Formats: sequence, C-alpha cells, structure tokens
Amino acid sequence: MDSPGVLVVGSLNLDFVFRSSQLPIPGQTLLGGQFATHPGGKGGNQAVSIGRLGGTVAFAGCVGNDPFGRVMTESLLGAGVDTTYLSVDPSTASGSACVLVDEQGMNMIVVAPGANMSLTPEMVDLALGCGPKVVLAQLEIELSSVKAASAAEFFILNPAPARALSSDLLSRCTVLTPNESELEGLTGIYPTEPTDCIRAATSLLDSGVENLVVTLGSRGSFWVSRIGGQHFEAPVVKAIDTTAAGDAFNGALALFLAEGRDMANAIALANCVGALSTTRHGAQESMPNREELASLAGTLL
Ligand code: ADP
Repeated sequence: MDSPGVLVVGSLNLDFVFRSSQLPIPGQTLLGGQFATHPGGKGGNQAVSIGRLGGTVAFAGCVGNDPFGRVMTESLLGAGVDTTYLSVDPSTASGSACVLVDEQGMNMIVVAPGANMSLTPEMVDLALGCGPKVVLAQLEIELSSVKAASAAEFFILNPAPARALSSDLLSRCTVLTPNESELEGLTGIYPTEPTDCIRAATSLLDSGVENLVVTLGSRGSFWVSRIGGQHFEAPVVKAIDTTAAGDAFNGALALFLAEGRDMANAIALANCVGALSTTRHGAQESMPNREELASLAGTLL
C-alpha cells in the first residue's frame, strides 16, 4: 500500500453485551434480557473513526484464530482500514469484554485482553516501516509495544486506560490526549475548570510532552503547549450515548494532523467528530462519516 496517513497501534476487543433489569450480585444467576456483540477495543474504534472519515489508515494489532477475530477484522475492513499489520496468534483467544448493563445504564465490565498482549515490539517496528505521517497508540497493549510505536516522528498517545508512564515515553509524545480522570491519574490535578489543564500541563511539558490535549466531555477540549493554553468548546448536540467519544476524537485528531492541518483546526474538528459520535448508540457503529462532519463543522473543514 501507499504510506497511510495514520498507523493505529492498539487493541481489538469483541464486546459481549448482556442487558438485564438489574446487575447480579456475586454468586447470583439472573435471567436477563437482550444480548448483542459489538466490535470494540480502543485501537479498533480509533482506526474505524479515521476510516469512516475517509482517511488512509493502517492498523497494527493482534487477534486470535477464532470467529471473534474474524468479526473484528471484517469491521476494520468495512471501514476501509488496511489490515496488513494485523497478526493472528493461534495460541490465544481474541481480546473480548463481558459487559453487563442494567436498566439505568449502570454497567459491570471484565476485559480479557487475550491476543492484544501478543503484539510485540518487533511487529510494531515492521508496521512503522509503512511510513505513516502520524502514529496513534493507546494503553490496552503491552507497554513495550507502545514504546516501540513511540519511535515514530509524529507520535500521539491516548493514555487510556490510565497507567503510570515513564518520563522516557512521555518525552516521545508529540501529542498526549488524556480525558479528565486520566489527567488526574497522570498529574494529580482534576480539571474542575478547563483552565486547570494549564497547571496540570506543567509536569507533563517538563517531561517532554510537546502538546497536551485534554478531552473534557461536553465541555470540549483544552490544548496546552509551550506557547500557551486554549479552550475549544464542543458543539452542542443531543448526546444519547457517550461510549467511544474519546476514540472518535482521537482518531479524528490523528487524521486531521496527518492531513497537515494546524493543531487548532484539528482539535476543533475532532471536537465535532467526538460530539457527533455521542448522538448515536454504540462504539464503532457511532463514528460519523465526512459528509456528516461537514454538515456540523461547516467552514472548519
Ligand atoms: P472519553 O470518552 O475518553 O472519556 P470524553 O468524554 O472527554 O472522552 O469525550 C471526547 C470528546 O467527545 C470531547 O472532547 C468532546 O469533543 C466530545 N464529547 C463528548 N461528550 C460530549 C457531549 N455530551 N456533547 C458534545 N461533545 C461531546
């Protein structure tokens, strides 16, 4: 393939979602309601976000040799994602998540990472050879593989789920994109006010992060770099399901930076993509296409 705009290095999980009127207590068996499977995993969601927007994107990751792996691979291909660097590890199951949801929307989740942990630094090195403009990773794979991805010239790290990060890894981040609670985990500062991100950024910028972009849910996002801080309001939408809003945002940010747009324009567009994803149910199913983005973003695009 030609060099992709973005290489996503990350996880694929098949979500097994069980709905019931209430959540079980330990030892209890409940007769529940509806059941459905959904392709997910932060890496897969972010790659699909880019593919839906018409970007060129390749995915480096690992699945097991089972039907679940094939479902997730099909989902990537359906969104136009190049799967050349998606490996199959026959010795383990594909990543999966058991999600229990009650009538109030409360949930309990167990993730079995399975084959996601089989992605090695060597596989990532090989994928980097495709010459992407931007590499985007999250933390649902081995840290050694995240570190391998950070060798890219332009590296975006979405530090989710929260984990302690070495200053060596931080120093390689062109952009670091925590949400509010991940920012608190990294710095001890929760952004009660958006401008709190400026204070929180100090230690991260000192560690060598070039740009901190904090996602703030319905409050949009906040960008801090050595030249200062800027708040980007999210567009007002009728949000019905915020699952994977952060993934929609991260994929879009990587794509628009790979297109050569400046940071402010890319963040403003990513806010629109994140917002649009909340207007529909699901994770990969909720990612907007370019036409939908154009109708919300207008001249920003
Ligand atoms: P995460 O899913 O990682 O917790 P956030 O909740 O911060 O991420 O959402 C990511 C982005 O999605 C936000 O920065 C914003 O652009 C958009 N977004 C999320 N929730 C809403 C909402 N209720 N209204 C508008 N935009 C939203």
